[in-house]
Amino acid sequence: MQFVKLFDEAGGLDKFALGGKGFGLAEMTQIGLPVPPGFTVTTDACKAFYAAGGKMPEGLMDEVLTTLRVIEQKSGKAFGDPAKPLLVSVRSGAPYSMPGMMDTILNLGLNDSTAQGLAKATGNERLAYDAYRRLLQLFGKVAMQVSGEKFERALEERKDRLGVRRDIDLTAADLRAIVEEFKRIISAETGREFPSDPLIQLRMAIEAVFRSWNNPRAKEYRSYYKIRDDLGTAVNIQAMVFGNMGADSGSGVGFTRDPSTGEKRLYGEYLTNAQGEDVVAGIRTPESLGSLAPALATELAGLASRLEGHFRDMQDFEFTVEGGRLYLLQTRNGKRTAQAAIKVAVDMVNEGLISKDEALARVDAGELNQVLHRRLDPKAKFVPIAKGLNASPGAASGIVIFDTEEAVAVGGRGSAVILVRPETTPDDIKGLVASRGVLTLRGGMTSHAAVVARGMGKPAVAGCSEIELFAAEGYFRTASGVEVRKGETITIDGSSGTVMKGEVPTVEPELSGDFRQLMAWADERKRLGVLANADTPEAARKAREFGAEGIGLCRTERMFNLGDRLPIVQEMVMGSSQEEFSSALERLFPFQLNDFREIFTAMKGLPVIVRLLDLPLHEFLPSAEQIMTELESMKASGESSKSMEEKTRTLARVRELSEHNPMLGYRGCRVGMLHPEIYRMQTRAILNGALDVLEKEGETVGVYIMLPLISEAKEMATLRKIIEQEAEVVFAAEGRRIPYHVGTMVETPRAALTAEEIAKHADFFSFGTNDLTQTTFAFSRDDVEATFMPKYLEMKVFAESPFEVVDTAGVGRLIRLGVEGGRRTKPGFEVGICGEHGGDPRSVKFFHEAALDYVSCSPYRIPVAKLAAAQAVLEAGKASSTV
Ligand code: ADP
Ligand code: MG
Ligand code: MG
Repeated sequence: MQFVKLFDEAGGLDKFALGGKGFGLAEMTQIGLPVPPGFTVTTDACKAFYAAGGKMPEGLMDEVLTTLRVIEQKSGKAFGDPAKPLLVSVRSGAPYSMPGMMDTILNLGLNDSTAQGLAKATGNERLAYDAYRRLLQLFGKVAMQVSGEKFERALEERKDRLGVRRDIDLTAADLRAIVEEFKRIISAETGREFPSDPLIQLRMAIEAVFRSWNNPRAKEYRSYYKIRDDLGTAVNIQAMVFGNMGADSGSGVGFTRDPSTGEKRLYGEYLTNAQGEDVVAGIRTPESLGSLAPALATELAGLASRLEGHFRDMQDFEFTVEGGRLYLLQTRNGKRTAQAAIKVAVDMVNEGLISKDEALARVDAGELNQVLHRRLDPKAKFVPIAKGLNASPGAASGIVIFDTEEAVAVGGRGSAVILVRPETTPDDIKGLVASRGVLTLRGGMTSHAAVVARGMGKPAVAGCSEIELFAAEGYFRTASGVEVRKGETITIDGSSGTVMKGEVPTVEPELSGDFRQLMAWADERKRLGVLANADTPEAARKAREFGAEGIGLCRTERMFNLGDRLPIVQEMVMGSSQEEFSSALERLFPFQLNDFREIFTAMKGLPVIVRLLDLPLHEFLPSAEQIMTELESMKASGESSKSMEEKTRTLARVRELSEHNPMLGYRGCRVGMLHPEIYRMQTRAILNGALDVLEKEGETVGVYIMLPLISEAKEMATLRKIIEQEAEVVFAAEGRRIPYHVGTMVETPRAALTAEEIAKHADFFSFGTNDLTQTTFAFSRDDVEATFMPKYLEMKVFAESPFEVVDTAGVGRLIRLGVEGGRRTKPGFEVGICGEHGGDPRSVKFFHEAALDYVSCSPYRIPVAKLAAAQAVLEAGKASSTV
């Protein structure tokens, strides 16, 4: 046989030949599970069908008929024989599951005389005509292109006339009448009769399944999920069993474990007296498996454990009970939540079903952070009022506030706040800090609000364009007309992007024992170090809790921008003389010293990479517009000329510092080059902080000082010297020394291109992939999000935003150059990356391949990065063992 394989003879063929469904049926048959007999027409036949321009391949029907004879023997029935009619289903089944995209026809082989025969053979006339009307309905729709609605409408109208509500309340006589009506619909709609010859039915059904591979929705589905168009579908032809035979029959769907918690218990739904399609289509509300007769329940549990033992994964299966006898009709690996995936993987290792490596491969790294945040109570009932992007996972409730300052005030008083903004700017950070979560109308997954919220581990729903905001009037309105006023409570779920009115209960994430176990296995496997981006002692502690192996990026800008420090910083920036500047800087020293003490304490024994100040100075001053408005109102209210003078001076300084393109201007180490005192002060604070911790705790600390935005080796050399001089001053004053390292963030193309030179003066590199992406593409993230990026993604110019998944072709190439350059100068030169990409699974895999030493990401992404790093090792192993 070229195209056809019996379920019990298909050993050795895979999903690509048999399709997923055929593969499952063949495997189940071969291990002796109760599967109605049948065979698979392989995907080769479908490919041949298309190669011949949509014609049935030569010899296929002969093979089908010969094999059908075997099924007749096995079942003791005959196809088309009214005395003992065999009915079959013709089921589509592609290599990858494409739920609902292709077609299946049940009950083939029925016509007026075999229907009568079936009624007699089973003593169940109702069953026979129910099966017949289902065949007409499905065959008419799938094989003869009659709109399915025509049948449904006719059925509904008849039920109305008869005054019955449910299909099962229709009598045999009713169903006979429906059969006649369905036949009339088919001939009226197509000008052809329904073929009463079972062999013609079979041929047309197989053709229809082949054609369904290329129906528009299947094509659309494949293009979305990137499934190849040339795989083709298999066709499964299988003897029917009847779940609609009466009270001791039925159909159901089961999961070998609970797909939402992963708990090891049989979970599923069942409909008495129904054919399989009724369960999935939701025609009636199914019962739980608990409603099965005890003997059946026990048998089903036994089958489930044999399925798992064979497939070594949680299975999602279809079954039918015919007159008290159980049959399995389909099985596949079941979809599950992240929580369930972790539990199932760990449990299966403990049960000896799979290896640790398999467990690591089975959990989707990207989904892992679903389990790290507070989430909606699974038992909670709610009605969503709007939907946006699921920008930062977790759920939170709070009162709606539209203004950052107000959020700070209200949140400061201890109230739970949800900040609702058209979009967020860096100014809104303090509002975010004071809120439980953020909802924005514009912006995507990588918008400022989303990035910051993810970093803080707070829920965010972004780009919720269904909402119209009337901030001045104090309310917002959803597309469906729901109005929410300022001060009213809402709940947002950043894992799904849903917005709800009122307080929906949430539950704590438990870092389960299973979760910790999986992480421990990931630690054993991965090569990449996984560090955290953490700017505050609190974030540092969180990072450690989540398993960070150090801090890969501690930004000092936010330390400058905090409450009582800001006036001092402003004084410093305004200072016209060197003395004024230095004196302000000195007053910042104690704050910085304390920050570093706390961070080093939290990270005892682990490396901490501190980045020196990288911020345009003018960002610490109010904007020119703001000062001008203030000046106006001062003039109007006749304020003293002294304070007016001061404002005017600020304005002049702001103008002096203003740039056409601040992102490409006076920032990063350039500020340090012209104001080395800033870096001197920071160096002192870092080293003194580290020495204090060493003294008090007798611990080791790893001190790494990182310079931002170096693009020329001379910058590196100059600033390194300054740091070294300052370090010597500190060590002399303290009478002891500690080792420390000086490196740079590589975030301009030029730094990557001249890495060899820069590495002469550096101890390490860390790729700042946020800026490196911006400087490589020459577009700024904040600007493109609001302009062309959404369109570019829609037009598929970019498959995904380069701010989410690292652009391996461009930015990745620069990274490779940088790594090679650094290591050419100094073998074993340490190289890592810090940037949003450090927590993105696909990017992490690239960083592994590019031979980096570590990735650094937000504390909440640490488990994601660790798992992705372990998977990268497993995948690399697999790739090298197959070449
Ligand atoms: P889908 O891929 O859409 O689930 P299936 O081919 O699995 O389509 O069939 C649809 C429904 O019909 C399922 O519930 C299945 O269990 C049921 N079914 C298919 N073949 C048979 C059969 N030979 N006997 C009884 N029920 C069947
Ligand atoms: Mg199915
Ligand atoms: Mg940068």
